Amino acid sequence: MDVILADSLGMCFGVRDAVQMALSSPHRTELTVLGELVHNADVLHRLEQAGVRTVGSVDAAVDTTHVMITAHGASRRVVDGLRARGLQVREATCPLVAHAHRSLQRLVARGYFPVVIGKPDHVEVRGLVGDLDGYEVIQSREDIGRLAGRARLGVVSQTTQPLDFVLEMVEALREAYPEAEVRFADTVCQPTKERQQAARRLASSCDVVIVVGGRNSNNTRQLVRTCEAGGARAYQVEAAADLRPQWLDGAEHVGLTAGTSTPDETIQAVHQALLQCAADDFKVAFGNESGRGGPDGKHNVHALVAAPAAAPLSARLLGGSPPE
Ligand code: SF4
Repeated sequence: MDVILADSLGMCFGVRDAVQMALSSPHRTELTVLGELVHNADVLHRLEQAGVRTVGSVDAAVDTTHVMITAHGASRRVVDGLRARGLQVREATCPLVAHAHRSLQRLVARGYFPVVIGKPDHVEVRGLVGDLDGYEVIQSREDIGRLAGRARLGVVSQTTQPLDFVLEMVEALREAYPEAEVRFADTVCQPTKERQQAARRLASSCDVVIVVGGRNSNNTRQLVRTCEAGGARAYQVEAAADLRPQWLDGAEHVGLTAGTSTPDETIQAVHQALLQCAADDFKVAFGNESGRGGPDGKHNVHALVAAPAAAPLSARLLGGSPPE
């Protein structure tokens, strides 16, 4: 069994900068993050230890003087409301989310009816549409029917939607309403595109792909779907301890990728565990069964996680540039 890393994986600059902004804030013990700054338990714990508090949403009550908007951004209405409550607001909004806001505003200013391709309840989408009086958020072909009778449609997407899906939706809109003028601004962010493309390449050459990322992470779930669509068995884990030995049964090539909220350390730990499984296979193939320690006589991932091997990680994870 060999382990192949995606060409592009892991934490994006937007999330990295937001975490850094919170950790380096001189007001961090008086700072509450409004929503999950990153969909990763370890990083959230690190923030908590640094004195940064987190509440569930922009509407939650806070007992600090400073608040932070996450990389997902928020509407002007929300930010103004926070200031009206006397709070000091730090905005860690990713520049690529801000670009999506500007793109949508420009379309509205030119008279297009705003349409967002994405999940209506996602915090980024709520921020995108939060200042608009009329809009539609669509996430399937069935939703397109709600746009009947609109002469001019201005379309953007949530930054973490797969580009293929977004283009399909735009095409479906044009087919459904050939008389309408459909103006599309591509707001899928570059890190998402790169990770999606890399996941597609990876899935085409792997039996199994392990996708590392938080359960709440939209782009991680999309990576799982991309790998499945590419023909690989795909499994999502939040940490190395979530790996299941049976997933790797019969696999010759195992791929590893990670969502844009996943820190390097978590990817390294999963990579380490997979490399050790590969080493175990090698020992078994050459007659040394000491490498197999699992109760089923196969890989013992949990033992590896509890006592990581001293073997170095791949040069890419150890010495390569950050995955961004
Ligand atoms: Fe920014 Fe894209 Fe990362 Fe979201 S996923 S924070 S838009 S770079």
